[in-house]
Amino acid sequence: EGFVRLGLAPELVQAVADLGYTQPTAVQEQAIPLAMGAGDEAGRFIDLMVSSQTGSGKTAAFLLPVLHTLIRQQAEADAAARAEFERAAAEAAARGEAAPKRPKRKNPTQTRNFKAATPGALVLCPTRELAQQVAHDAIELVKHCKGLRIANVVGGMPYQLQIAKLQNANLVVATPGRLLDLQRSMQIKLDQVQFLVVDEADRMLDLGFSDDLAEINQLTSQRQQTMMFSATFAPRIQQLAMRVMHEGGASVK
Ligand code: AMP
Repeated sequence: EGFVRLGLAPELVQAVADLGYTQPTAVQEQAIPLAMGAGDEAGRFIDLMVSSQTGSGKTAAFLLPVLHTLIRQQAEADAAARAEFERAAAEAAARGEAAPKRPKRKNPTQTRNFKAATPGALVLCPTRELAQQVAHDAIELVKHCKGLRIANVVGGMPYQLQIAKLQNANLVVATPGRLLDLQRSMQIKLDQVQFLVVDEADRMLDLGFSDDLAEINQLTSQRQQTMMFSATFAPRIQQLAMRVMHEGGASVK
């Protein structure tokens, strides 16, 4: 059935059903399996360039695969921590000692020591309104996921509030200018970003974000996957794609 067939995590399938989506749109049908690594024999993530108009369902086309991978990674990390705990408990029992205490998940609101945010995924949007809409959609999609946090970084919002919400964020939705402000003031580090999405790349260039994109491209150079969404594939968009994407990527029209 619809979204189940795409191989998405059950938490996401549930969220999509709650939103009333019954079938993936054309762009979702094509982009989601590719973005999740289908088609690459080694199971690597491939870069994607997607031509898409507003209203096509493009936002979920990039949010769903990114969130799916973040959920999988979190589940793997949790399973590893559990296995380590079981191993330590078995060892203690063999020595006739009391079992070690189960580690508690940290409550982010109780973090005393400030640490820069280190998101695993970053979505760049050309305008504050679009970034807020995308963050809103992401929050809807993670409502059944424990421990996945979304933060929105846009100009014109109180700085302190944004910084507080940024801590422990797994996915950050940002406009380039404010993101770089926070990076320069060391509130956020981008070297853990594995997934980078550039939404409305054509408007991004229209609005003069070319240099900011170049800088963010450098700061996230360790990433595994880049997805670019654009209404057109004009030559200047192709040039941007050449700079930010690996060879061997796929393009979806
Ligand atoms: P977008 O192109 O991302 O701006 O999405 C346009 C609208 O379509 C948004 O209001 C989404 O909530 C909605 N939408 C996205 N995917 C689906 C789907 N598979 N079925 C129905 N509506 C959808």
